[in-house]
Amino acid sequence: MYNKFQHFLQEELQKIKDAGLYKNERILVSPQGAKIKINTGQEVLNFCANNYLGLSNNLQLIAAAKKALDSHGYGMSSVRFICGTTDLHKELEQKIADFFGTEDTILYAACFDANGGVFEPLFNEQDAIISDSLNHASIIDGVRLCKAVRYRYNNADMEDLERQLQQAQAQRFRIIVTDGVFSMDGNVAPMDKILELAEKYDALVMVDESHSAGVVGATGRGVTELYNCRGKVDIITGTLGKAFGGAIGGFTTGRKEIIEMLRQRSRPYLFSNSLPPMVVAAGIEMFNMMSATNHLQEKLHANVKYFKDKIQHAGFDIKPTQSAIVAVMLYDAKLSQDFAAELLNEGIYVIGFYYPVVPQGLARIRVQLSAAHEFEHIDQCVSAFTKVGKKLGVI
Ligand SMILES: *Cc1c(COP(=O)(O)O)cnc(C)c1O
Repeated sequence: MYNKFQHFLQEELQKIKDAGLYKNERILVSPQGAKIKINTGQEVLNFCANNYLGLSNNLQLIAAAKKALDSHGYGMSSVRFICGTTDLHKELEQKIADFFGTEDTILYAACFDANGGVFEPLFNEQDAIISDSLNHASIIDGVRLCKAVRYRYNNADMEDLERQLQQAQAQRFRIIVTDGVFSMDGNVAPMDKILELAEKYDALVMVDESHSAGVVGATGRGVTELYNCRGKVDIITGTLGKAFGGAIGGFTTGRKEIIEMLRQRSRPYLFSNSLPPMVVAAGIEMFNMMSATNHLQEKLHANVKYFKDKIQHAGFDIKPTQSAIVAVMLYDAKLSQDFAAELLNEGIYVIGFYYPVVPQGLARIRVQLSAAHEFEHIDQCVSAFTKVGKKLGVI
């Protein structure tokens, strides 16, 4: 039986390779950080991790995780509602709510699960979900699992959102759903305008803060801080796997009754294991750190500004960004791949993206800044860009 299927898979895999879309994994043999070592022995500067605050290898978080291993053990062997809830889980949920200025929080194994489990328990065929066209795959999948009527608006396009909201007046409840930061351009969802439209057309609002929490806003409270609308968004989802330590874990935080209903009905919460105590304890430590000081945000914001100024001064085009993601535009697909390969030879690890991940003719290198970077790392990065840019005729 497997023969025919095997043949089919081999052909499909070959097609992925022929299209240049086959994903190879680079193997790290060091902790995640500004400088990483790969299994070829090469040491490179890392500009493609979601390690925005540089906490992936933070000693305070490691110590908190080790301590919880001793006090609460290794695993929970249970979902939350059977015997998988510890005092630590409750404490972390409260810390997340305090951080975002929301009423309650529910933890998941990942934000993919938070988004996968948020729509189906709350909405049905009488309702409408109005989703940004560039929303994350997990939002798209979550929407698919729900019977609500779907509307889609062009990325951050408020005129289009308004048209969709007008059409969605036919439904009982409406929810506008957006990423906080869009990961390919680094642009931020215009929350002020989204909330105005939500008010005008009687819609709820949900934001996925995965790339914005910890990063955006003076104190890293995300897009609701940037747009001064804390407490006005009904549902926020996010991850502990990016700025917040980078290990694993996701959450939904927001209105009390919404969270209460998710605890009763959200399938990834009910039918999937509880986060291990060490991860939860490190999360608590991380939020304590966030409430004590903003110095990581300040360093990150300074690094982003430093990189943006230098790379533009070197003659490169970048997309407007309000996050820690900077898209250095090369436009041509092959050039983006050659450029990234040359940069790796220069000790700079970044990824080139091209169609269909980004629109045709808008290939780019995505640079992700971190509070773990020092100015000298950024200097090295821009020097390498300049050298390769001259060699490949870009600048
Ligand atoms: C990374 C990401 C996710 C998934 O988060 P995990 O916790 O890794 O599952 C969800 N939404 C957005 C917008 C993301 O960027």
